Amino acid sequence: DSADFDSETESVCPFCGVGCKVSLKVKDGKVKYVEGINGPANEGRLCVKGRFGFDYIHHPHRLTKPLIRREDAPPKGMNVDPGNLTTHFREASWEEAMQAAAGGLARLRQAHGGQSVAGFGSAKCTNEEAYLFQKLIRQGFKHNNVDHCTRLCHASSVSALIENVGSGAVTATFNEIENADVAIIIGANPIENHPVAATYFKQFTKRGGKLIVMDPRGQGMKRFAYQMLQFRPGADVSMLNAIMNVIVEEGLYDQQYIDAYTENWEAEKEHLKAFTPEAMAPICGIDPEVIRDVARTFAGAKAAMIFWGMGVSQHIHGTDNSRCLISLALMTGQVGRPGSGLHPLRGQNNVQGASDAGLIPMFVPDYRSVEDPAVREDIFGVWGRDEDWSAKKGLTVTEIVDQVYAGNIKGMYIQGENPAMSDPDVDHARDAFAKLEHLVVQDIFLTETAYFADVILPASALYEKDGTVSNTNRQVQRVRPAVPPPGEARVDWRITVDLAQRLGLPWDYTDVSEVFAEMKQVMASLDNITWERLETETVTYPSLSETDPGQAVVFGDGFPRPEGRAKFTPASVIPPDEAPDAAYPMIMTTGRQLEHWHTGSMTRRASVLDAVEPEANCSLHPKTLRALGVSPGEMVRLTTRRGSIEIMARADRAVSEDMVFVPFAYVEAAANVLTNPAIDPYGKIPEFKFSAVRVEAI
Ligand code: SF4
Repeated sequence: DSADFDSETESVCPFCGVGCKVSLKVKDGKVKYVEGINGPANEGRLCVKGRFGFDYIHHPHRLTKPLIRREDAPPKGMNVDPGNLTTHFREASWEEAMQAAAGGLARLRQAHGGQSVAGFGSAKCTNEEAYLFQKLIRQGFKHNNVDHCTRLCHASSVSALIENVGSGAVTATFNEIENADVAIIIGANPIENHPVAATYFKQFTKRGGKLIVMDPRGQGMKRFAYQMLQFRPGADVSMLNAIMNVIVEEGLYDQQYIDAYTENWEAEKEHLKAFTPEAMAPICGIDPEVIRDVARTFAGAKAAMIFWGMGVSQHIHGTDNSRCLISLALMTGQVGRPGSGLHPLRGQNNVQGASDAGLIPMFVPDYRSVEDPAVREDIFGVWGRDEDWSAKKGLTVTEIVDQVYAGNIKGMYIQGENPAMSDPDVDHARDAFAKLEHLVVQDIFLTETAYFADVILPASALYEKDGTVSNTNRQVQRVRPAVPPPGEARVDWRITVDLAQRLGLPWDYTDVSEVFAEMKQVMASLDNITWERLETETVTYPSLSETDPGQAVVFGDGFPRPEGRAKFTPASVIPPDEAPDAAYPMIMTTGRQLEHWHTGSMTRRASVLDAVEPEANCSLHPKTLRALGVSPGEMVRLTTRRGSIEIMARADRAVSEDMVFVPFAYVEAAANVLTNPAIDPYGKIPEFKFSAVRVEAI
């Protein structure tokens, strides 16, 4: 009852990319209850994370004062107790902490040049905060070595989409599935990772829509699937090319659409000839007749959509996987009409918006190349002329870590990102962070990355700040503060502005709406989307007028590429980077669980979620457990070429007998100690979804 609360504030769930709108009910200065409200992506629905995962913002581990590393602190490492910081850090005033933060970075800039400092921003922050962060690195240090978690998420999807469609965002909202009669979900587990989107997918099947699920791991959507293709891990390209081979061989493609809107079709058609279902079945493990049925079903659809997730993107051939999905949609003319389209499901609340805002090393805002002189002129026009700003693409997350390890990057500013948990081969990343001469971490908790910091700046949770975020649907929504940050913690964008000023930049923003106004000057995608409109409505970009709620489906009349044509880029079969062998005979794949989100810094401090899923666990097939002599609930040791962890084993028939699934939220058994840092050559995304592993009873 409203009378039970002191205030109610509308905002957006801080977790996955669905972007559910919420009402936050506050009593005695604390958020006590969260309710789903009528946003376009959720229509009042919430999953368990949105509904119950909010009290982390009041957790006693919240950082409430700036911290500075003690001069007599032990060597930097994973040896910090987040409940007792005093061995490593001492409290400081904001003035002292900001002087130390800015002074350390400025000293490195002076002594070694701007290239000695790099930045990781965050998809947990707002669009305005992401924009300011990339601007600070570019303007303050004169290079593009700035990135965020998209590199570990959908970078390969974005690289394929930009290459072949001309835009990195989805071509249709997930809600468009209501107008589809066929849909593919591949390498995504929406019941656990995008649960509210999954409710729309389930409704689609109830109405008679044919859902085709493709996943090496069994999953909840299997129950709703017309076909479930549980293919061999890493064999995406062979399966997708075989499906397209059938479409070519049986003449099921849409020649009219291909002629009108695409290029390079003849090369693609020729390339696909070798990928017959019979030739590909031994590689992907899918029966040729199932491949034919899926090809005929998809090509015969009136309107069809393709959804994908990290299972597609987190491979050394992640860009090739997405190229195949794009080709499949193009050859069947399934882009640009209601109920058709390409939709990479975004993982983090604002990974779409942070990427749009230029928090990536190759692009300034709106995916415009840092190498393009005309783009640079545009940016100079708004930021002021700065001839020294490098026109070279910057380094990505994993490349930055390698350069830190090599000693070439000596300082970092990390905001709301936890690479000491999320990077592949994370012991290597931790060793690198220990070498940094000056690390400034801005976060709400003492994350594992903050263990290595020299200065820690206490920041704000999403429910404590004002601004905008953009979800997987390209929908721009306002977030609003329901409660103030605790203690002396500050809102992130204000900290970044303070740091920029101390680094000598002429920034004078006094309100977050001024940042949004500047973004509009450099981002055509925000045309017709005003701060005033966002006070009362969600607007999807592109919006064609100040009364247009935005375009749910785009590219009906051509693509933002030369001559308006999308492109077919053929993909060949590339095996995973490391094959299982006698020493490491099984395959490990990693991901999220329903209750825990990413590195667990927030959800493991949310009391309900932690109570439901308190312990690090991995999933193995019951037969594998029997062969190991291990009962469900007992511990196993997982070892790869990178390292070893001990973790509780669960029985799960969804994983095949030669696989183990490990969530990456648990520091005490960190999955990324084991993962392979090999990267996709285009998107530079690591191969989280395939590592050769040995599993042993303890
Ligand atoms: Fe939050 Fe995603 Fe769940 Fe919606 S589906 S409540 S955005 S975690």
